[in-house]
Amino acid sequence: MTYLPSADRYKKMQYRRCGHSGIKLPAISLGLWHNFGHVDVTETYRKILHLAFDSGITHFDLANNYGPPPGSAEENFGRILKEDFRGYRDEMIISSKAGYTMWDGPYGDWGSKKYLVASLDQSLKRMGLEYVDIFYHHRPDPETPLEETMTALDLIVRQGKALYAGISNYPAAEAAKAIAILKDLGTPCLIHQPKYSMFVRDPEEGLLDVLGKEGVGCIPFSPLAQGLLTNKYLHGIPEDSRAAKSTGFLQKDQVTPERIAQIKQLNDLALKRGQTLAQMALAWLLKDSRVTSVLIGASRAEQLADSLKALDNIVFSADELSQIEKILAP
Ligand code: NDP
Repeated sequence: MTYLPSADRYKKMQYRRCGHSGIKLPAISLGLWHNFGHVDVTETYRKILHLAFDSGITHFDLANNYGPPPGSAEENFGRILKEDFRGYRDEMIISSKAGYTMWDGPYGDWGSKKYLVASLDQSLKRMGLEYVDIFYHHRPDPETPLEETMTALDLIVRQGKALYAGISNYPAAEAAKAIAILKDLGTPCLIHQPKYSMFVRDPEEGLLDVLGKEGVGCIPFSPLAQGLLTNKYLHGIPEDSRAAKSTGFLQKDQVTPERIAQIKQLNDLALKRGQTLAQMALAWLLKDSRVTSVLIGASRAEQLADSLKALDNIVFSADELSQIEKILAP
């Protein structure tokens, strides 16, 4: 059956300006790192994509290596774009990245111009696109001069293969340098994608200040700590969870008794706020206006539906915030 998007989709979502740019992103964006590879079930991820778009999610985040196998998330997304979303490309912000190992030899990894340009060409082919909206350097490269990597992003934007440039996993000082180089080149950095959640607080140590000052957007990845910040692990490790799957990046040994104790207390607080833990964890990030959007994953449409309700309440009292800090204190 032909997919027809919900007519009132844009009334259901909040859109936030990305730094000082002309782009607004949905407060919640969908990432395709897990759950969209050839190991996954087409009808399950098709439903997730339909619900996302029906709910006003316009931003879909990919990378060359998402799968498994690497590249398969882009292939599958490209297929569904063609089958179900034909005619809606201009309503979407699609991103990809390069920076992690993608192919053998010295040109399939890190941050050379050779790798970035070739990798984006491959990504565009896999997705059947003429351009992506955002192209990221996925992680800093300690060996390639930052000028070369940023010049590659600038080139890609000038060639029209990406509309905007972004960086990911750059610590504050390196992010500041990259942002300055891109500004000089005339291709301002649109957005930074750091790992940030209640359990991973590094961006608070300088990065958010840099982004706020420079007018660069921020889209935290793994805002649910890969599922830990949900009610999923309250009573052990379910068989269908990321921690239990051999293809998942969350390891069983990360689900420690200490973590579970914290998760239980956070869950109680969320329930007092009338939210699920997933909703509270997302709201907690969105309370900061420097955070443009939270980049979530979902293995089922029901999870996405749950996470979307975070937007019903993103306000915290001072008392709630201090209770959260007490629970998270080591
Ligand atoms: P999350 O922290 O949102 O974790 C998503 C996982 O949590 C789901 O797959 C599911 O796991 C579980 N989950 C989600 N919602 C719920 C819910 N409401 N109730 C119960 N469980 C839930 O994000 P990800 O780690 O998936 O990362 C999101 C995106 O961020 C990626 O797809 C990617 O686009 C980006 N990313 C970028 C990186 C980078 O280096 N730039 C690195 C990592 C991610 P389960 O399978 O157990 O059901």
